[in-house]
Amino acid sequence: MRIPILAYHSISDNPWPGMERFTVTPAHFARHLDLVVAGGFTALTVSDLADRLDRGQAVPRRTVALTFDDGYDDTLTLAAPMLAARRLTATVYVTTGLLRGSPEPGAGPALGRMLGWGHLVELEDAGLEVGAHSHTHPQLDVLARSDAAAEIRNCKRLLEDGLGHTVRTFAYPHGYASRWVRDEVRRSGFRSACGVRNAFSHEEDARWMMARLTVTASATAAQVQAWLDGTGARTAGRGERVRTTAWRGARRARRLSHSLVR
Ligand SMILES: [Zn+2]
Repeated sequence: MRIPILAYHSISDNPWPGMERFTVTPAHFARHLDLVVAGGFTALTVSDLADRLDRGQAVPRRTVALTFDDGYDDTLTLAAPMLAARRLTATVYVTTGLLRGSPEPGAGPALGRMLGWGHLVELEDAGLEVGAHSHTHPQLDVLARSDAAAEIRNCKRLLEDGLGHTVRTFAYPHGYASRWVRDEVRRSGFRSACGVRNAFSHEEDARWMMARLTVTASATAAQVQAWLDGTGARTAGRGERVRTTAWRGARRARRLSHSLVR
């Protein structure tokens, strides 16, 4: 069974600089949601999906999970009402240090206009799940372990303090995670974590690197329809591909050279 977990970022007609590729227009997004409804799909939050899979409980034959990364303001102002109008839920992965009014502002890149801290409760009131996406959005797999652990644990602590309950799912910034980072997310008390991988998830998918399909600005309705139908992408395999590991070595070396020149 192929389970599409779609990864959105910003929903807007006016992309933030640098976010053009990851911004879907409201009109396109509405069309995607209409395809979900017309296809008779059940939208589950990532935690609901992971729980069912962990318990060996059957998931509806036509299951989809919708996710939003980073925590843009338009997730609440545009996406949430469009989801609610169709009685669909989703999981919103937020970067705690970059939200406006964060209790512990992080020195990270401003990705665009982000949610305010008080908006997290509003997302939940709108029926959406809030998940963790680190504190400052670094590539966790090339950080020192103590720094990576702080990114994961601070994000979880702040969200749980703000929301008053456990936050159960994590998404790796940029989709990057080493074996150690995945283990640390598990040790921190999360129950699932999403990567990117641009593949279908499935019942046997790795719980600490669930595969998602990134919906980019250029994704056509036909593309989204194909994904909903379980075609147009591969199914996630087990383990990490060698190429990913080699690429990490290059990114780590580049980070090292950057820190040397500074
Ligand atoms: Zn992100």
